[in-house]
Amino acid sequence: MQCHKQLQSDCQKAIWPTDPAQYSVLRINSETDRVEEDCPLPKCIHCGSIARPNVLMFGDFDFIANRQNEQLDNYYHWLREIPKTDSGLVVVEIGAGTAIPTVRRECEDIVSRFGGAKFIRINPDDFSIPSRLKNHSVSIPLDGLNALIGINELMQSL
Ligand SMILES: [Zn+2]
Repeated sequence: MQCHKQLQSDCQKAIWPTDPAQYSVLRINSETDRVEEDCPLPKCIHCGSIARPNVLMFGDFDFIANRQNEQLDNYYHWLREIPKTDSGLVVVEIGAGTAIPTVRRECEDIVSRFGGAKFIRINPDDFSIPSRLKNHSVSIPLDGLNALIGINELMQSL
């Protein structure tokens, strides 16, 4: 979570974990798709104003990127540690569609960069594999849960 208004300096860089108990009491009005008025919304831990998810939206200039930047640093550090040839890397992409292909491009790029990498694309609709990756890829046209259950069952039978 992060502060929606970021009025105080303490609010401007603060993010904090979600309290699941707080959200179990939220009720959504099915006609308006809004939270019922008598439900308490999450509050900023510093100023008490409304809080929001710490999730990047399109054109979102108020997103606090501290945690995302740390995760990206960790990801890039991890990638640097993987051998470029005979990597043994397996990229499993689940549910990444073509409407906003950022995740698909990242997965395809990683598989292209590491020799010996394998690629598993799981998607019930957008399951095509680029021809340049077909020799070391598998496409599973199922939803994520059913694909993972099937993979698990197959591995258990080996
Ligand atoms: Zn605040």
